[in-house]
Amino acid sequence: MKSDSHMLLAETAPEAGSVMTKETPQRRARRRIYLSPPHVGDAERRFVAEAFEGNWIAPVGPNLDAFESEMCAASGSKAAVCLSSGTAALHLAVRLSGVRPGDEVFCSTFTFAASAGPILYEGARPVFIDSEHLTWNMDPGLLAEALARKAGQGRLPRAIIVTDIYGQCARWDEILGTAAGYGVPVIEDAAEAVGASYRGKWAGLFGHIGVYSFNGNKIMTTSGGGMLLSSDRALVERAKKLSTQARDPAPHYEHSELGFNYRMSNVLAGIGRAQLEALPRRINRRREIFEHYRKALGDLKGVGFMPMMPEGRSNYWLTCMTIDPSRSSVRPAHVLAALAADDIEARPLWKPLHKQPLYADAECFGGGVSEELFARGVCLPSGTAMTEEDIGRVVAAARSAFHEWQV
Ligand SMILES: *Cc1c(COP(=O)(O)O)cnc(C)c1O
Repeated sequence: MKSDSHMLLAETAPEAGSVMTKETPQRRARRRIYLSPPHVGDAERRFVAEAFEGNWIAPVGPNLDAFESEMCAASGSKAAVCLSSGTAALHLAVRLSGVRPGDEVFCSTFTFAASAGPILYEGARPVFIDSEHLTWNMDPGLLAEALARKAGQGRLPRAIIVTDIYGQCARWDEILGTAAGYGVPVIEDAAEAVGASYRGKWAGLFGHIGVYSFNGNKIMTTSGGGMLLSSDRALVERAKKLSTQARDPAPHYEHSELGFNYRMSNVLAGIGRAQLEALPRRINRRREIFEHYRKALGDLKGVGFMPMMPEGRSNYWLTCMTIDPSRSSVRPAHVLAALAADDIEARPLWKPLHKQPLYADAECFGGGVSEELFARGVCLPSGTAMTEEDIGRVVAAARSAFHEWQV
């Protein structure tokens, strides 16, 4: 029987399919290693087949309801709605937080562009807040400073979007305490942090609205998809209505507000159900991969890894390595080049949003920490279908960069 890691390779890596001749070790070694490819198998196939058999090939059907209630049971959320992407979920979260044109919205700067895009969709203005060294997430002290300054100017933000970066929770006690002091709602971008927790509570449950992504590269995937969660059931019902063109109850098509086509399809929700069953195993495997890299590369001069806060439990979505330029002459670009030469996909850490051309004019509190992370860090391949041999290849390629460039 094929293991699901072989199925993944057969299905997602074009070069693997083309290797029809004898599998020599050299050929296998040339297989491309991806940063975080989808990891799927028979369970996913079964749920999708069921959707076909019942002809539920629509943004309605039993997998959607089941996926929502299973995610609620797993996370402890009171309510959730499946959407077409994490970005769609963030957009609805921003709208449902009452953000209007001209408003300011605070946002983590060390994050993916999708965290802040919906602020612009609504004609509002992002104000970025830098990270702290401890978790790489929004610095609670800077947040307090920024809120105090804005309150003094009589211009509080309409909402605060906080990302749980690379699968590790922000320091939620501090952030929520500060935000509550000013009565500003918090949106939790837990797109990367499905299954992570902080003081025993799941990522996604800390803001008044939480958001997950099930994009193809995330720890749980539906190929593309997302989810909006909240303990406020009425709010989730509003999100569901807005995601299905905001139809009013009537036999004809009646609309009194603007809607969107943001619902997930029933087919894809089936993939999500199988992925959720596997999530605890996937998190364990990602942690093993992180520990493996840490052991195999941690002795190199200047090399560090993303710090893990003891109050939280990361899902270890991506292993992030840093190189201290005061202790090593090796730069992330050297490591990336060495990996690319062996057909291994890796990436620098997120480029902070306040340094993106799109946000050249945006205000930012702090900025040095995220800029430093961007300059120093590399995300290593962390897919759960990786074999020990694959990890060994990544380690060897990374070490070769130090061998070549360390002076
Ligand atoms: C992936 C991601 C998103 C967007 O999710 P999609 O499902 O790809 O739209 C948002 N925020 C962060 C931090 C992400 O990593």
